[in-house]
Amino acid sequence: MESLESKKHFDAGDVIIAQGDIGQNAYIIEEGLVEILITKANGDVITVGTRGPGTIIGEMAIVDDQPRTATVRAVESCKLLEITRADFAGRLKNTDPVIQTVSQVILTRFRDTLKRADFIHDPVSRTAEDQERTLWAQSNAVEKIKMANDLKAALEGSDQLFMYYQPIINLNRGTVDGFEALMRWEHPVRGFVSPAEFIPVAEDTGLIIDASRWAFREACSALKRIEGKVGYDHDLFMSVNFSSTDFAEENFLDHLYAIISETDIDPHKAHLEITERLLMTQPQNAKKTLDLCRKAGLTIAIDDFGTGYSSLSYLHHYPINKMKIDRSFVKNMQDDESARNLVKSIVMLGKNMNMAIVAEGVEHKEEAEMLKNMGCEEAQGFYFARPSPEKDVIEMLKNWHPEEHV
Ligand code: C2E
Ligand code: CA
Ligand code: CA
Repeated sequence: MESLESKKHFDAGDVIIAQGDIGQNAYIIEEGLVEILITKANGDVITVGTRGPGTIIGEMAIVDDQPRTATVRAVESCKLLEITRADFAGRLKNTDPVIQTVSQVILTRFRDTLKRADFIHDPVSRTAEDQERTLWAQSNAVEKIKMANDLKAALEGSDQLFMYYQPIINLNRGTVDGFEALMRWEHPVRGFVSPAEFIPVAEDTGLIIDASRWAFREACSALKRIEGKVGYDHDLFMSVNFSSTDFAEENFLDHLYAIISETDIDPHKAHLEITERLLMTQPQNAKKTLDLCRKAGLTIAIDDFGTGYSSLSYLHHYPINKMKIDRSFVKNMQDDESARNLVKSIVMLGKNMNMAIVAEGVEHKEEAEMLKNMGCEEAQGFYFARPSPEKDVIEMLKNWHPEEHV
C-alpha cells in the first residue's frame, strides 16, 4: 500500500485548512506550530487550540466528507505530511469492522455536539429529518457490524453459507455449457440474506477474501461432482464472481492455483467474473494478475457489461475472453428499439474482439430467440433455469433435452 503521500511546507500565517471547505486530506505535523480557529454562527472567531509536531490535523475529513469544522493556520514555518482520503480508505478497508464503524459513529456524534454548541453554522442540520438521518446512519452502521460479525462466524464453519448454480445455455445447441456460482446465506434469525446485501459488507470489511476462496473451492469441487454424476459428454465450465479486494490480495493467484489442483479440475473450466469497475479501480494489479490467470488457462469474463464505465479502451488492454451483457439491457430489449440496438452493438463489439458473449437475465422465450438471431451464443436467466442447489442441478442435467431449448 502507498504510504504517506507528500511533504508540504507552510509559512507563518498561511491557511492550511479553511473552515467550511470539503476536506480531502489530513496532515501530520512534522515541524512547526499551527493554531485552530473556529468562526461561530454569529461571526465571532475564537482560537480553540494549537498543535505541534507529532499531532494530526484535518483527520475528520478523511473519515467522512463533511465540511471542515475549523480553520488551521500556521503560526510559524511548518513541515507537514499529507494523508489523502484514498490512502486512508485503503488502510481502513482491511481493519476490524468494529473499529471502522466506531470511528464513524464517534465522528457523527462529535459533529452533532459541535452543532449544538453552535460551532458549526448549519441551519439545515437542525431539522427532525436530519436528526433522523443521523440516527439512521448510526443504526445502519451498527447493522453492518452485526452483519459482518455474523458473516465472519458463518465463514468460520457453520453451515449457513452455500452455493447455488445457474446453468448457462448455448443458444445454438440448446445444451448447458456451464454454470455461474452464486453465494447464498441462510442466517439463523434473518433467514435468507440477499448477496446484494451481504457481498458489499464482505467487501467493505475484507471478509470477501475468505468468502471468495470458499466459494471458488465449493464451486470447483461441485463441478467435479456434477460431471461425475451426470457423465455429461461435453466440457462444462464453472464461473465464479470475484471482487476488486480479491485482486488486490497478494496471494490471490497462489490460492486459486492451490484450489484448482486440490479439486482436480481443468484450469480452463474455471471462469472468473469481474466487473468493469474492478478494472478501473485496480488497473496495475489487475493487468498483471489477469495476464497470469490467462497464462494458467483460466477464462476471464466481464460481468454486468455496459453498466460500469464509459471508456472501452480497457477491452484490448486486458486479456478478456468473455463479455456478460447486463440484465438491464436484455430486459428492455423487446419493447425498446434502442435497447435492442444496444444489445446488437454489444454482441458485434464482442465478436469483433474475439470474445464469447453471454446475455444475462433472459426471462422470456422471445428474448432468447432475439439474442440467438443477433449472434449471441450463450444466455442465462429464469427462462432457462433459476440458480439452484447442486443436487437439483444434477437432476436438471440428467433430464435435459437440448432440442427443447433451441
Ligand atoms: P451477478 O453476478 O450479476 O449475478 C446474477 C444475478 O442475477 C444473480 O442474483 C441471479 O440470481 C440473478 N438472475 C439470474 N437470472 C435472472 C433473471 O432471469 N432475472 C432476474 N431478475 N435475475 C436473474 P443474486 O444471486 O441475487 O446475486 C446478486 C449479485 O451478488 C451478483 O450479481 C453478484 O454481483 C453478487 N454475488 C453473488 N454471489 C457472489 C459471490 O460468490 N461472490 C461475489 N463476489 N459476488 C457474488
Ligand atoms: Ca456474475
Ligand atoms: Ca451480472
